[in-house]
Amino acid sequence: MRQLPLHRRRWLAMALSSCMALAWPLWAAAQQPYRGPLFDAHLHYNEEACAFPGVCPYPVSEVLAMMQRAGVRAIVANSRTNDGTKALAAAGDATRAAGVTVVPFIRLYRNRADYTGWFADDSIYGMVQQELAAGTAAGAYRGLGEFHLYDSRNAEGPVAVKLMQLAQARGLAVLAHVDDDAIDRLMAHAPQARLIWAHTGIGGAPVARVRALFRRYPLLVGELSYRPGLTDGEGCLSAEWRALFSEFPERFVIGSDTWINARWSGYEQLMAEARRWLGELPPAAARRIAWGNAAALFGVRDPD
Ligand SMILES: [Zn+2]
Repeated sequence: MRQLPLHRRRWLAMALSSCMALAWPLWAAAQQPYRGPLFDAHLHYNEEACAFPGVCPYPVSEVLAMMQRAGVRAIVANSRTNDGTKALAAAGDATRAAGVTVVPFIRLYRNRADYTGWFADDSIYGMVQQELAAGTAAGAYRGLGEFHLYDSRNAEGPVAVKLMQLAQARGLAVLAHVDDDAIDRLMAHAPQARLIWAHTGIGGAPVARVRALFRRYPLLVGELSYRPGLTDGEGCLSAEWRALFSEFPERFVIGSDTWINARWSGYEQLMAEARRWLGELPPAAARRIAWGNAAALFGVRDPD
């Protein structure tokens, strides 16, 4: 690329955002926010957002309107309780009108106490089997989770082992909020399972360790909400994550993680922030991470 005179380059650097200035001139032509469809692969519609029946600060119509404004065309719905997911799945006319495809997952938690004991609680395995048999108005459940392991050794819990093996046998994806050690443990139970690593290491596992896990487990997928170090304080993509995406453009997905209502109140902003760093990637990689990887995983058609 032809070099501009120095004074002209300085002017451009000031006129462009800081991400653009840092990346100049490599991706100068692609430095607009990503404008294509989004697949929100980590979404909760928990009972604080809307209880069925009960208090409902964020009715289905409103969350769908937010998705529509944000350009979100498909979601992985996983909610405490599963009634939130079922409400989204049952709103067929409204979701079609909003252009949003609902991919339902079974949440393992009936209440907050289940977060810390599910891996050894056989009643949760029974609940999962009941939900699988019942399905939803939007079709069969496509995955399990999100679940949490605050101590990776609990990945050896009997229900954790059984659920990983069930997911592998039934072709269900698994959304797991765990550390890097637990990825090794969970994959050992079910090497062919489609494990989606929620936050891709929320504790900040080094990128070299993340890369090693992605090389070792070809079916591992990384979801990117809350991932420390992904972007800098300005919302610009870091160099080490840009390099990881260029090595594995087909292995990452984005998510909102609406685990509390504050995330719903900031939903459109969260999606705008994702669009900003996605816009720093080559367009084909951006579209894969924003939409195509999750769409391929769940067989969701491209939006019109
Ligand atoms: Zn979550």
